[in-house]
Amino acid sequence: MAEATLIDGKAFAVTLRGKVAEGVAKLKADHGVTPGLAVVLVGEDPASQVYVRNKGKQTVEAGMESFEHKLPATTSQAELLALIDSLNKDDKVDGILCQLPVPDQIDGDTIINAIAPEKDVDGFHVINAGKLATGQQGLVPCTPLGCLLLLKDHLGPLSGKSAVVIGRSNIVGKPMAQLLLKESCTVTVAHSRTKDLPAVAREADILVAAVGRPEMVTGDWVKPGATVIDVGINRVDNPETGKTKLVGDVDFASAAQVAGAITPVPGGVGPMTIACLLRNTLEAACLRRGIPTDGIL
Ligand code: NDP
Repeated sequence: MAEATLIDGKAFAVTLRGKVAEGVAKLKADHGVTPGLAVVLVGEDPASQVYVRNKGKQTVEAGMESFEHKLPATTSQAELLALIDSLNKDDKVDGILCQLPVPDQIDGDTIINAIAPEKDVDGFHVINAGKLATGQQGLVPCTPLGCLLLLKDHLGPLSGKSAVVIGRSNIVGKPMAQLLLKESCTVTVAHSRTKDLPAVAREADILVAAVGRPEMVTGDWVKPGATVIDVGINRVDNPETGKTKLVGDVDFASAAQVAGAITPVPGGVGPMTIACLLRNTLEAACLRRGIPTDGIL
């Protein structure tokens, strides 16, 4: 079988960010509104610092305002809730994101649910999760939204396709399954207790791996011609260089021999996440003010 088509998330994300920048310019010109995104980071986790820096940079590049709040690792839950409350009330702020994970003294769910749902650009608030589950318009989690945009771009309508999502987290697996269901796929959600996972995966026209286990999904799990979306980001040792490298949850080399199309890691789903965050911030800026999103999003 020929090598699978590469789904280039990096290029798609560049295009999406360009469209968001155009939408921001239109919102400014027609309504005098500049969307603003507030990113809150508690503690000094190096990976989170890199994410927050990239988010801030790309927010500004899209023509939006970026507000960064860096708090010490010793911050109490009450202090963080006070900051969220002030951001909820700040009219210049359209989107609020608290970088996860938060330190142990803080309950992540309490923080997420303290964010005003109309500013919850991560789409993690129970109100937005409920809207997604019931098919109502709300803010959708960025990583699964990015996966969906890549799938629709590559496959066109998804209706009737069989989709298997491996992973059932609230931030990736579950919302991914909801989005695919909304597109009229027949969806199976697999997880650590699933029996004979390779056989389940082989049923999929669309296979989404969101597990956090390096290169777990091998070519013999893939139905010939299937579209494979690899959400995983895993840092592993690279014996060839003595350094580390990023790999997905899919063993790219073997899966690419069988799949019809596949996302690489890096350069697949990863870049779509921030692009969708910017998209969600623009959407929030419109919806919060009752501005129609037609021609802007
Ligand atoms: P979680 O750890 O929250 O969830 C992992 C899921 O995988 C769980 O539902 C778990 O099942 C399931 N799982 C674990 N081991 C197995 C196994 N052996 N067989 C089948 N299922 C298994 O991870 P996330 O959803 O947060 O992230 C998943 C991956 O996506 C990670 O690599 C993460 O780094 C990456 N990621 C990438 C993003 C991006 O921007 N590209 C953004 C967010 C995440 P159970 O529920 O039964 O425990």
